[in-house]
Amino acid sequence: MKLYPLFADLKGLPVLVVGGGIVARRKAAALREAGALVRVGAPELDAELASWVEAGAVTWLPGEYVPHWLDGVWLVIAATAERALNARIAADAAARRIFANVMDDAALSRFHVPAVVDRAPLTVAISTAGAAPALASRVRETLERALDHALGELVALAQRYRARIVRRYADLAERRGFYAWLHDGPVLSLLRRSRPAEAEQALLEELSAHGDTRKQGSVILVGAGPGHPGLLTLSALRALGQADVILHDQLVSADILAMARRDAECIDVGKRCGGRHVQQEHIHRLMLVHARAGRRVVRLKGGDPFVFGRGGEELAFLRGHGIDCEIVPGITAAVACAAFAGIPLTHREQAQSVCLVTAHGKDAAYTLDGSMFANPRQTLAVYMGVEKLSMLAAQLLAHGRDADTPVALVENGTRPQQRVVAGVLRDLPTLAEAHAVRTPALLIVGEVAACAREHAWFGELVAALPTSLAAPIEHECMEVA
Ligand code: SAH
Repeated sequence: MKLYPLFADLKGLPVLVVGGGIVARRKAAALREAGALVRVGAPELDAELASWVEAGAVTWLPGEYVPHWLDGVWLVIAATAERALNARIAADAAARRIFANVMDDAALSRFHVPAVVDRAPLTVAISTAGAAPALASRVRETLERALDHALGELVALAQRYRARIVRRYADLAERRGFYAWLHDGPVLSLLRRSRPAEAEQALLEELSAHGDTRKQGSVILVGAGPGHPGLLTLSALRALGQADVILHDQLVSADILAMARRDAECIDVGKRCGGRHVQQEHIHRLMLVHARAGRRVVRLKGGDPFVFGRGGEELAFLRGHGIDCEIVPGITAAVACAAFAGIPLTHREQAQSVCLVTAHGKDAAYTLDGSMFANPRQTLAVYMGVEKLSMLAAQLLAHGRDADTPVALVENGTRPQQRVVAGVLRDLPTLAEAHAVRTPALLIVGEVAACAREHAWFGELVAALPTSLAAPIEHECMEVA
């Protein structure tokens, strides 16, 4: 047997919920949202239901269930704790040809209440016909992730212009093409960006345009996070699911690329020091060419696009060439590596500020204001520092940072091969060398870095003893020997 799916317009219609507990309250809430006139029958009501009655939003039928409660209602939900009573209500309803739903009893229910993904006026309803409601809610979670939150507004906009759309695209295939553009083109993107007036303008222009204006593609600068697929944002996931072309950095992990649309063209534009080297100008050109060919381009970067990611340059370039651009932030390496190493970047008395610095290129750490390094209550997160550790340690010591300041190197943060090497500032260069720390690695300097020794919870931890302590111990051992 198969259920017949149905969306009911209950606006202004009386409906009945029997029961005064949490389930009854939830059902009453959903019915209220649909504009129904809700009657709740029960000897007692839970506090919130009672407040709705007081506010006049719900009518209370006090006392034990009597069949005449069903008089004039369009449907009933039996949500009492007594199975036999629920069955009686269902039988009474059937006799009067009123649709009944019985809590937790698919066999007794004439209608089922589905799991819902709400992007009103767009509604997705999921039912397993009572076979496995928990599975329906798993499916719901999947759809929640997949469906853009701006879709409701898009549907509402399409609803407002429905008549004009139908007139303009009398041919069904053409109309379908228009709706594809509406969904994939600039309108949804503008709604996502809280620009409803511009979205409407774009729709109107399309409706009054002659010939094909749908060529322009788009670019989204997307932060892929540090590597762990769970750290991708919902917006990033959706962008990957819709991309025609993905231009990605070398830092972007394979696990993340695997989540992209199957037939998306993936181009590795990773800039490597040493080996193959893709110029920034070439990346700019690629974005432009693909966008102008009408494709949806995702420029996918490790971490966050605006933290040492040259996202700012790419944005300026694209806008300079008339290509509109969305930006999806990502979890930057400092935030992710610290979390995955058990290091709070700020912490009560130990650190009241965090400074993100790079040791690379013309913005290198040594050009920064030295006083920023000296503050013992500031955590430093150093990007691209692996090859400059001697210089960094020397700079920090020269600016008065204590030689015993804790440090932690987080290599391949959040990835299966993550390793945390913890020590003190004085030993930083030798530590990295002894443990062969390789890029990508993030350096954390400050009192908080010591937390890794106790609280590192992911991957491997190498907690090195400070040489100042290790030396005498070695000495003692030798004497004993
Ligand atoms: N936009 C990126 C940073 C790019 S610069 C972000 O926001 O994270 C590249 C540097 O980031 C690397 O040299 C390294 O210092 C750091 N990094 C990026 N991913 C990392 C990871 N998974 N583990 C450790 N460090 C990482």
